[in-house]
Amino acid sequence: MEPTSQTTLGGQDFGARALDGRVRARLGARAAEMARRLAGDGIVAVALTWVDVSGITRTKTVPVDRLEHAAAWGVGMSPVFDVFLLDDSIVSGRHIGGPAGDLRLHPDLDRLVPMAALPGWAHAPALRYAQDGTVHPLDARALLRREMGRLAERGWTVKAAFEIEWAVSDGEGDEFSPACKGPAYGMTRVTELAGYLRDLLKALKATGVTVVQLHPEYAAGQYEVSVAAEDPAGAADTAVLVRETIRAMTTAHGMAASFSPKVEADSVGNGAHVHLSLWRENAEDGAVNAMAGGPGPYGMTGAGESFAAGILHRLPALLAVGAPSVASYLRLIPSHWAGAFACWGLENREAALRFVTGAEGERATAANLEVKCLDAAANPHLLLAALLAAGRDGLSDDRRLPQPVEVDPAGLSEEERAARGIAPLPSSLAEAVAAFEADGVLREALGEAVTDTVSAVRRGEIALLDGATPQQVAAATRWRH
Ligand code: GLU
Ligand code: MG
Repeated sequence: MEPTSQTTLGGQDFGARALDGRVRARLGARAAEMARRLAGDGIVAVALTWVDVSGITRTKTVPVDRLEHAAAWGVGMSPVFDVFLLDDSIVSGRHIGGPAGDLRLHPDLDRLVPMAALPGWAHAPALRYAQDGTVHPLDARALLRREMGRLAERGWTVKAAFEIEWAVSDGEGDEFSPACKGPAYGMTRVTELAGYLRDLLKALKATGVTVVQLHPEYAAGQYEVSVAAEDPAGAADTAVLVRETIRAMTTAHGMAASFSPKVEADSVGNGAHVHLSLWRENAEDGAVNAMAGGPGPYGMTGAGESFAAGILHRLPALLAVGAPSVASYLRLIPSHWAGAFACWGLENREAALRFVTGAEGERATAANLEVKCLDAAANPHLLLAALLAAGRDGLSDDRRLPQPVEVDPAGLSEEERAARGIAPLPSSLAEAVAAFEADGVLREALGEAVTDTVSAVRRGEIALLDGATPQQVAAATRWRH
């Protein structure tokens, strides 16, 4: 394996002209060797995937004996997918739109794995390049690496993980019919689908994913898997891989998985909470977690607090990236553990930012922030890039956190909330987009092309679902992400 550092992409420098003849030859040779091994292991084809701005994982696939060519020269793909909406209709932004043009998708060989849940298939997240070999400005994976690099320049690294919630249906057609009857968090639900859950855990392990927990969640037919923290680029890639593994295993068991923020209009939704911790390289002790061992609230260091405060401050704007669908706002409501208020608290499940210290004795490794107001309609790479930018800005500003909140803010009067500085988060996608468009830090971090495209796609989806009832929104979103 070639080393990947935070400033390289698939083993090459990010920036300038990423692909020259020498690099192409090296990638091709490495892919040829990998393809021989994969074919020997019964792999027939490789799915190159990328997540679009609407949060849908799209793909082009190649037979394994074309992997060498794909690694060196890429696979053609229209840039227009960046302005696809969740129903596959197409809008256009100032930078993207129209039928002309082509990009090249290159498999990221560092992240290519056989998919145990999809026998004969391997999966590789795609790197997206323009025809001239430069990185495409809408490549969210490259943006995320750039943000990691910007923190690294200041001596910081981040560990991240997505929690993945999904609901399992055994219904016919497009309706949702929970595949198990057991109660929330009930052992009955494990027993009912024990074979499926066992096969899923086996497949995730065989795919190289470190699962730390699996449990039945609150809503009907809902489960959750948590995975080990990695660097942000790895965490976002893993989120996609886990989702596709769940989808494949659910399908193989004759059922369907929904990752939608709101599977049914009147129940608890699927979140995709993001866990983050900030680390400082230290010559004596190795990496040290800035979320523990400090003089700040509940043991945060000053830097840990600033990073958290930077994220808290920008939550309304971040929602346009992290709760990006119309259905997201059916989920993001008070008293549903979704974190509908812009506040933070120690282990408070109704705070958008939940600080988790872990048990005494383990805090130096375990303490982290959980951003709860996010869901799986988000492009995980874009979302982490935006979260890192917000945290970085908090560090630059030396921002402080307000007082923590230890109750459900919905139970406070409006006056009490105002006195404590607790504001409701946007209650619609349109409100989140307005906050996003006014946010200079996110615009600078994501770049003009991405910012404009995010706005165009969000506005397209708002128009698409304008006037739809919650039931219609849930139905239109249920099987898309
Ligand atoms: N399903 C809830 C959500 O929409 C989260 C439940 C939990 O706290 O894990 O985010
Ligand atoms: Mg959960």
